[in-house]
Order: sequence, then structure tokens, then C-alpha cells
Amino acid sequence: MIIMFTHQYIEPHQVNAFAYCKRKWYYQNRLKLQIINDHMEIGSYIKEHHWMKTIKRKEIYLMSNKWKLKGMCDYIIEENGFQIPIEIKKGKCSAVKPYKNDVMQLLCYVLLLEENLGIKYTHGYILYVGSKRKFTVNITPNLRKKIQNYFKEIKSYLRNGKMPELQSNKICCVGCSFEEYCWFE
Ligand code: SF4
Repeated sequence: MIIMFTHQYIEPHQVNAFAYCKRKWYYQNRLKLQIINDHMEIGSYIKEHHWMKTIKRKEIYLMSNKWKLKGMCDYIIEENGFQIPIEIKKGKCSAVKPYKNDVMQLLCYVLLLEENLGIKYTHGYILYVGSKRKFTVNITPNLRKKIQNYFKEIKSYLRNGKMPELQSNKICCVGCSFEEYCWFE
């Protein structure tokens, strides 16, 4: 029997997993193999670093009927009366720009806030606790297009139930918690 998930609302952390690796998304969201929650660790970091001027939104659950998206935007920064989303990751990022999967997750929060607050965002932030780096992410038309393509792709996998391919380059798998599932010989 084929179970259809096409009306399911997508969550930002799922988009993150999908943008990182489609197979990872499949393990976590279709097979429910593993869920990692690092909110507690991040929460204590925020408490110790008041300089960040970041506030935690509590139990504000947002839904977007337009994008069939739902989720909780945990942290925001207030700038000139606007609430700007900030996605906080406990890991490190030494690259010149934030990781694309984290950018896609941030964009999900932007879309949720835009629909619920009726404003259009020009930017958001991503902070990597491990390297204490904060990136400004400009919300460009190109990024908006990319996230829409991810939504379409996710829905297509939900509809057809297929298991996505492994990463073509094994180097992308270094440090992935599913390495032993994928590359067991
Ligand atoms: S080990 Fe590689 S292919 Fe497997 S889920 Fe992780 S990133 Fe994807």
C-alpha cells in the first residue's frame, strides 16, 4: 500500500536535512531513524552571551498555508522595531559563507514570519556557536527561488515514496551521523 503525504506540512529542520543530503532527510523524516536535539546546549550558550542581544521566542508556532510550512522560529534579534530571525547552530563554520542547508532553514523562518506578520524581510542571521561567527544572509530573489524548488522536490519525494540516492561524493559524508547506515560494507 502506498501512503500519500502530499498534504503534509513541511518543517524547517526537514528542509535543512534535505538541503544537506536528501538521503539524510529520508532517514530522519520517513524512517524516523534519529532525531538530534541540540536546543539545550544552544540555550545555555545564549544565556551566557548577553552581548548577542538575542531573545528566545517562547512557544510561538507559525504556519504558512501558502507554503505548507510549519515551525517554531526560536530566536530573533530586534532591530529598529523589527523582529529579525536568527538561526543558531552549535557547530563551527570556517567557510566564507554559511552552509546552504542552514540558509534554507533560515529562509523557512523568514517565509513563516512574512506570512504571519505581513512584512517582507531583506535579511536574517545565522550564528555558529562553535566558531562564534554571525553571518548576515540577504534574502535575494534567487534564494527565494531556491527554497521553492526545495519545497517542490520534497513534495515529490513525499508523493513517490522513493529513497533518494546517497551523496555522490563520499567526502560530504564525513561527520554525518548516518555514515554507518550508508556506507556499511
Ligand atoms: S552518510 Fe552521506 S549519504 Fe548518508 S545520510 Fe549522511 S551525508 Fe547522506
